[in-house]
Amino acid sequence: MKRLVVLGGGESGVGTALLGLAKGYEVFVSDRGNITDLYKKVLLHHAIPFEEGRHTISKITTADVVMKSPGIPDTVTIVKEVRQKGIAVVSEIEFAAAYTAATILGITGSNGKTTTTLLTHHVLKEAGLHVGVAGNIGDSFAKQVASQQFEEYVLELSSFQLDGIVKFRPKIAILTNITPDHLDRYDDDFEKYIASKFRITKNQTENDFLIYDADDVVIRNGLQKRKIKAKLVPFSMEQELEYGVYIKNNKIIVKLNNEEELMNVSSLKLQGKHNTKNAMAAAMAARLLQVRKETIAESLADFEGVEHRLENLHKIGGVQYINDSKATNVNATFYALECMDAPTVWIVGGVDKGNDYTDLLPLVREKVKAIVCLGLDNSKIIATFQNVVDVLVETAGAEEAVKVAHKIATKGDTVLLSPACASFDLFENYEDRGVKFKEAVRLL
Ligand code: ADP
Repeated sequence: MKRLVVLGGGESGVGTALLGLAKGYEVFVSDRGNITDLYKKVLLHHAIPFEEGRHTISKITTADVVMKSPGIPDTVTIVKEVRQKGIAVVSEIEFAAAYTAATILGITGSNGKTTTTLLTHHVLKEAGLHVGVAGNIGDSFAKQVASQQFEEYVLELSSFQLDGIVKFRPKIAILTNITPDHLDRYDDDFEKYIASKFRITKNQTENDFLIYDADDVVIRNGLQKRKIKAKLVPFSMEQELEYGVYIKNNKIIVKLNNEEELMNVSSLKLQGKHNTKNAMAAAMAARLLQVRKETIAESLADFEGVEHRLENLHKIGGVQYINDSKATNVNATFYALECMDAPTVWIVGGVDKGNDYTDLLPLVREKVKAIVCLGLDNSKIIATFQNVVDVLVETAGAEEAVKVAHKIATKGDTVLLSPACASFDLFENYEDRGVKFKEAVRLL
């Protein structure tokens, strides 16, 4: 019997354990932190042995294969020891993909993964396909492979998931964009992070497709440097293409063999340039799977959006409140500010991963009437913007930030939470920040 050791007892770890069990492995789960009660129950229920609060080397280095959860860096001792013994270390995606014959659509990029994944899933589902969605969303891919019979999967893939692939080969890959993020896990080397994103296409063949943003210079340069086997399918908002998706007269055009008019940009439910790009990518993926263009247009027109991503809340006293708590880097916030069309009170701040805010200066000058800082250390934000806006206030909690923003905003304004930072100084995670923001707005 082969031995599978799973490092990390969270969603992907427990899912992998279940799949391993179903496929006849002897399974052991090891987590250096605590395993939540919910997952412990699952492990106990299936009689899967586990440990928490430690990694017992002798129980781990006897594995035939080790699945490392995406949250665990390569640099931790246990992972190094496992590798030294020549044991394969794979990600959940790699492990699970080997056990499904489903067509895989894999989506990666620095921003827009979740939105594009859910958009694509929505379109394919509306088209009547028996399609699942996984990867950082809902039940883990491995768990679904163990218990479902989907014919297609749309997978959101972080670079950490991609770092642990060996043979994983999506039929259709989407690369939304590449901007610096998570560089702490890549020795502060942007090239390493770029290489990680390009891993999505490394096993693709001539029969597969790589959909990518042709307006993104990092991607364009990355493509030039590499030999890509997949058929390249660009999307662009800036130029008409010989092959791919583009905009002409405010319409989305899909061109595979002939030019096909898909829909007006204004009919998309999700507004903003970045969401137009996400929709173009999703539309192309669906088209490559032979979904009718009418179905694509209808489903892109009724997609409701995703919580914490430019989520419109109620208007209060003529002021629109928007929750974009998921904007944890400057690029995401750039797009949020770009689509503001009213004077904006901008709530920003948190834990910054080496942010350079200067890219935002023109947008802030044009659109932002006041800045409300929401973080423990706001010095960089203050230094960058204090001479750019008239009002800049520091706050240290969602309720306080919302109250201050409410006082500053007048009828016709927008209050935008788009922090450009991680949330760990004041909140558990970005969801917690978004929920607390929404709660505070509700209580106004
Ligand atoms: P991810 O899963 O890659 O983090 P999300 O879809 O959750 O991406 O969106 C994260 C943030 O990035 C949100 O603030 C969202 O408005 C913004 N965003 C979405 N799509 C894009 C895009 N194509 N380019 C830049 N920012 C985007």
